[in-house]
Amino acid sequence: MTDYDIAIVGAGGAGLTAAIYAARARRKTILFEASVTGGQIATTDIVENYPGFPDGINGFDLAQLMFRQAEKFGAEFAYEPVTALERLPSGEFRVATSEPTITARAVIVTAGASYNKLGVPGEAEFTGRGVSYCGTCDAAFFTGQHVIVVGGGDSAIDEGLFITRYAASVTVVHRRDTLRASAILQERAFANPAMRFRWNTVVEAIEGGEKVERVRLKNLITGETETVPIDGVFIFIGQTPNNHLLQGLVELDAGGHAIVDLDMSTSVPGLFVAGDLRTKAARQLISAAGDGATAAISAEHYLAAHDARPERHG
Ligand code: NAP
Repeated sequence: MTDYDIAIVGAGGAGLTAAIYAARARRKTILFEASVTGGQIATTDIVENYPGFPDGINGFDLAQLMFRQAEKFGAEFAYEPVTALERLPSGEFRVATSEPTITARAVIVTAGASYNKLGVPGEAEFTGRGVSYCGTCDAAFFTGQHVIVVGGGDSAIDEGLFITRYAASVTVVHRRDTLRASAILQERAFANPAMRFRWNTVVEAIEGGEKVERVRLKNLITGETETVPIDGVFIFIGQTPNNHLLQGLVELDAGGHAIVDLDMSTSVPGLFVAGDLRTKAARQLISAAGDGATAAISAEHYLAAHDARPERHG
C-alpha cells in the first residue's frame, strides 16, 4: 500500500503552501526539507511585499506561521534530504531518504534554487547585514545609501534599477567591460543618473563591523586593488536550480529549471514542480506560494482521477 497520497520536496514558500492545500484536501501529505523551514525567506529579515502584513514580517516568523498552518491540517514533516525520486511501474513514486524510503501517489518538487555565491571573505558573514541576493526584498533598507551590485546580467541590471528607487547610488561592479543584460535594460541603466559602473572589476573582500562598511575591489586589467566605502553589496551572479532529483526524469530548460505546464504538471504523470525550480518570470515568495497552491490543486485532481471509485448503491 502507498504510504502517502502526496509527497512534497522542499519547505520553502511553494512547498509550505502546497502542504496547506494538500492536507486541507484531506490527502495524506508529507513534506521533506533538507535544511530549514521557509527556504530563502527563512534568512530574510523583513518581508514587506507579502500581502496581509502591512508592517512587514520577519521571514523566519512567516515561515513558522505557514508551517503551523500546514501542520494544523494534518501535514507531516520530515527533516531529511530526499536523495532520489523514481516513478515505479505501478505509477507510484519511490521517495528515497536516509530514513526508510516512502512511496507516494503524487509528488510535488519545490526544491527551489540557490543563489550563486562569490565565495569571497566577508560574504557569508555579512549576509543579512549588508549583503543581499534580492533587491526587491531588501532595497528599501538602503534608502539614501550607497550600494554596489555585482554582476552584469538581467538580474543585476533589473534589480539595480529597482534599487535606485531607494539608494542614493548603485554602482554595478562587473568583471568584463560589456554587460550581458538585454539592450533595453542597458539603455535604462546608462540613462539613470544614480547608476554607476566599474568595469573589469571584481570584489575581493567584503569588510565592516556590525554591518558592511567597505569592499575591496580589484581591477582585472591593471591588477590594482582599492578599498571603497559602501553600505550594501547586492550579488546577482546567477542562480543554480536545485534540480538533482529531476535530472533524467523531466525536461529542463537551458538554465536547469523544470519545464511545466500552467497547472505545474511535468511530462511525468503525477509529478509536479512549483516555485523557483520551474521556468518562470517572477521569482518571488508570492509567486512561489501561488505555484504551490496550483500544484497541490493539480495533484488533487490527478489523485481524484485515479482514486478507486467506491461502488454506488441505490
Ligand atoms: P546570468 O544571465 O547568468 O548573469 C550572471 C552575471 O553574473 C553575468 O554578467 C556574469 O558575468 C556574472 N558572474 C557570474 N559569475 C560571476 C562571478 N563569480 N563573479 C563575478 N561575476 C560573475 O544570470 P541572471 O542575471 O540571474 O539571469 C538569469 C536568467 O534570468 C537569464 O536568462 C535572464 O535573462 C533572466 N532574467 C530576466 C530578467 C528580465 O528579463 N527582466 C530579469 C532577471 C533575470 P559574465 O557576463 O562575464 O558571464
